[in-house]
Amino acid sequence: MAVAEDLKSDDERMILDAVDQFLERHVRPVAHDLEAKDEYPHEIVERMKELGLFGATIGEDYGGLGLSASTYTKIVERVSAVWMSVSGIFNSHLIMAQAVERAGTEEQKRHWLPRFATGELRGGIALTEPDAGTDLQAVRTRATKDGNGYRVTGTKTWISNSVEGTVLAVLTKTDPAAEPRHKGMSLFLIEKGDGVRVSRKLEKLGYKGIDSGELVFEDCFVPADNLIGGIEGRGLQQILGGLELGRINVAARGVGIARACLDDSVRYAQQRKTFGKPIAEHQAIQFKLADMATQCEAARLLVAQAAAAYDRGERCDMEAGMAKLFATEAAIHNSLEAMRLHGAYGYSKEFNIERYYRDAPLLAIGEGTNELQRIIIAKQLVARNPA
Ligand SMILES: Cc1cc2nc3c(=O)[nH]c(=O)nc-3n(C[C@H](O)[C@H](O)[C@H](O)COP(=O)(O)OP(=O)(O)OC[C@H]3O[C@@H](n4cnc5c(N)ncnc54)[C@H](O)[C@@H]3O)c2cc1C
Repeated sequence: MAVAEDLKSDDERMILDAVDQFLERHVRPVAHDLEAKDEYPHEIVERMKELGLFGATIGEDYGGLGLSASTYTKIVERVSAVWMSVSGIFNSHLIMAQAVERAGTEEQKRHWLPRFATGELRGGIALTEPDAGTDLQAVRTRATKDGNGYRVTGTKTWISNSVEGTVLAVLTKTDPAAEPRHKGMSLFLIEKGDGVRVSRKLEKLGYKGIDSGELVFEDCFVPADNLIGGIEGRGLQQILGGLELGRINVAARGVGIARACLDDSVRYAQQRKTFGKPIAEHQAIQFKLADMATQCEAARLLVAQAAAAYDRGERCDMEAGMAKLFATEAAIHNSLEAMRLHGAYGYSKEFNIERYYRDAPLLAIGEGTNELQRIIIAKQLVARNPA
């Protein structure tokens, strides 16, 4: 339910219609069961390949759909309103692709992007380590020069698509003594194989179905051609550039969850009766619906604003941070309000509300915690408004 759906081009309309059809035919009927079993949605992945979702934001020159961030966020919202985990399968894959497209050499783009776009090669970004998450400059995975390549050793954890995927953009230290620390960081594309081991699949509160794993790199040989951009010391900037789109996309997931909670609640409030009337006629419930709808619409507008700035090629870390912060908190808020409104049924495994309630908090952690977003927003606010 969107109070203010904006005008769309014909192309965008066609793509969004195709996504809606895919969701109704292939995702909604199986989401509840697959989520309950924490089962990877292989069939859905095949349909996503056909739709071209693995190349959604990759340029047409490299075999992708070349969608704008504005259109892409509308896709992510729709997918997340049905089952958020599905969006994770192509989101972090596209952040990896984004790093190659923005920072890779022409040869790297031609080599990797067409195979990312078809979904033949799928993966994500391996940044986090057991002792380094928000403070990415503290990563310890080491890449040491060896002949015409590098030897990579270290552990990455919480990596989405690391069990089912085949390739990852891995943040490493090529010079651990460098000051500032980011000058010693480099980003490599590493295909799983010799020297790369999935040590475990992690158990989670929500975001089930999609694989979150721990990866161990043991003296793994990586050809020098896989160093993104071909020059050491640029890894942190390369991945942070891709994270702007990542944050806008997490914000769009927040809008999706906030909207699913609202849609289910508006329906239920008209069906459930207490004291002789639908609960939608009780003022306390009306207040909840009004607040949920307002949060959802405000979140969508912030996402649209950030996506538009991104599409214009402007620096948009503040806009992306605001969208991510507000929309993900809206998802958390709406999931709890939807649970209260559904009473015991909200707490039941038979309904989707408890899933939204388990999925939403991840959004406050992934792609930079909401505490980090506040820091980014405040720093930019001051930088843009010198006294
Ligand atoms: C389901 C799931 C999927 C994930 N997928 C991926 C993935 O695909 N790839 C990947 O690389 N990572 C992934 N992550 C990891 C995620 O990006 C990190 O969990 C996140 O960056 C936070 O890092 P951390 O957990 O180490 O928390 P920490 O960095 O240890 O932070 C702990 C707390 O301290 C706060 N904090 C830290 N620094 C500051 C500061 N300077 N000021 C104020 N507060 C601060 C944080 O906000 C947080 O509240 C995933 C995580 C989950 C749960």
